[in-house]
Amino acid sequence: MALREIVVEGDDVLNKKCRIVEKFDKRLSVLIDDMIDTLIESGGVGLAAPQVGILRRVVVIQVDPEEAPLELVNPEIIETSGEQKGLEGCLSIPGKWGIATRPYYVKVKAFDRDGNEYTAEGTGLLARAFCHELDHLDGVLYNTVCDRMLTPPEIEKYNEGEIDFADECYVDTGDVELDDKGDEE
Ligand SMILES: [Zn+2]
Repeated sequence: MALREIVVEGDDVLNKKCRIVEKFDKRLSVLIDDMIDTLIESGGVGLAAPQVGILRRVVVIQVDPEEAPLELVNPEIIETSGEQKGLEGCLSIPGKWGIATRPYYVKVKAFDRDGNEYTAEGTGLLARAFCHELDHLDGVLYNTVCDRMLTPPEIEKYNEGEIDFADECYVDTGDVELDDKGDEE
């Protein structure tokens, strides 16, 4: 296990489409372990392989530090519902924030490191993370799909806790039944 360097905006690797993982081998396992270490060290919510310079369809996500990180190989979104508009950031675009509209509920199918297929679902922050991280695998950065980026004075106020953009953000849960799918932000 080791930390990997996080690639930042401006590096071409972030704009490329990643290849499907075909071999579920030791190398993949090491990559996933390193990505989890790097994610935890960075304090972020999700990390995609191109962010550590690897053009493979691999993502790790950890919304709740108390829970084991999700590892998603060759993930695909299979269902979405509702809509949420809220703040979003990216480890590869440090110090910046945007306001992005995403589905409120997202279900994905993916493989684990051993090649077993499974599904995962989430609302709120986890749904947002699925969309953001899977976009990375197609070379899409959130600042190209968000409604707007915060201005430097807004970032300063946000960092000081003086502004939360609540008037601009919303959650429309759509037809999601929160009792089954509740992992509210
Ligand atoms: Zn990102």
